[in-house]
Amino acid sequence: MGPLARRMQQLLHIGAEHAADATLRRKVMQCNTGMWLTVGNIIAFNLMFAWSGNEGLIRSGLFQLPIGLLLIVSVTWLNRRGRLSIARWVLAALVAIDITVGIVLGQGTLLNLHLYFIVVAAVATVFFPPLLWRQAVLASAINIALFAWFELRGWEPHPAMLEMSPSDLYAFRTVMLTSCVVIVVVLMLFSEYSAARNELELQAMANTDSLTHLPNRRAFRARLARDLATSHRSGSLLTVVIIDIDFFKDVNDAHGHDAGDLVLQGVGQVLQQQLRPDDMLARMGGEEFAVLMPSLSVEHGRAVAERMRQAVESHRFETPQTSLQLTVSLGVAALPPGARADSGLKSADAALYAAKQAGRNQVQVGIQA
Ligand code: GH3
Ligand code: MG
Ligand code: MG
Repeated sequence: MGPLARRMQQLLHIGAEHAADATLRRKVMQCNTGMWLTVGNIIAFNLMFAWSGNEGLIRSGLFQLPIGLLLIVSVTWLNRRGRLSIARWVLAALVAIDITVGIVLGQGTLLNLHLYFIVVAAVATVFFPPLLWRQAVLASAINIALFAWFELRGWEPHPAMLEMSPSDLYAFRTVMLTSCVVIVVVLMLFSEYSAARNELELQAMANTDSLTHLPNRRAFRARLARDLATSHRSGSLLTVVIIDIDFFKDVNDAHGHDAGDLVLQGVGQVLQQQLRPDDMLARMGGEEFAVLMPSLSVEHGRAVAERMRQAVESHRFETPQTSLQLTVSLGVAALPPGARADSGLKSADAALYAAKQAGRNQVQVGIQA
């Protein structure tokens, strides 16, 4: 990300650190986006109005400038202080005031500036968290009412605007309408995009073990179910290996829980180094890991498991106090196409138990699931 993009990200994140959850954080960012869109809009229209040279248009733009400034200062200030709810309403209020000022002090309803009330009504839910939907409905209702009032009543523009040529009027009305649509589209796209990103982040978190950053039991089970479904079609064999550290409780007891955590991370790395990119290593919980790999035969599965056993046995795990050595016991199960996930795991578990019973630091192969 370039420095400009990073700066923009920062601007959109102002106040996000106060948000209690991912959805609220997204809403803060969307409020900031709405604020900058409004201010950008005010500046763009001021330039266009200045270029047109029409006094009424220029007046309508100039009076909106201080409101835009107030918008940036107040919403940013409130967001920084964590007053997220007030910031939202200040944004809604100042946008409504801004549109009203533009109508009353310059344009009247000649160019349909009051269409912007409809835009705000349409996008209100983008700014309010789902739990506060009543507030979103209220904000929409107020804006719809403002639109209806100006539409039904009409408002006389500044006299200079009555001298605009029909083609200029048409052009400005078109620009106004187009900018309304652009704002709705940008806000909706941004909202959908950040919701999708949120969801991906949460999904990754739900599937990852926070200590080792390996996939967790949930992710392992999901992948096993998926691979079993495809192995059913392709007719290939799937191998499951369950790996349990031997006498791990002693590591905790002798060196402390933090050292134990470091060792768990280290074992994860050593195991991973023995695998191929297609294989999946997961932490199933506690000091237990599991591997899922496509394999050609039971013997191949046993050989990979044996390689993992040797790799752990010969590794020295470093902790701040000492370096220590340990061993693992492994249970292997080969799952034929169409096997059930549960019976496959049970078979690997039984093999692991047999390895523990037989003296640990060894590989045992389970009976076919
Ligand atoms: P065995 O050879 O029979 O497997 O003996 P063991 O000591 O490895 O097995 P046991 O189930 O008695 O102990 C497992 C230990 O793993 C106990 C628990 O405190 C520890 N443990 C589980 N999760 C974590 C963790 O996240 N961090 C640390 N440091 N220790 C953990
Ligand atoms: Mg153990
Ligand atoms: Mg265990």
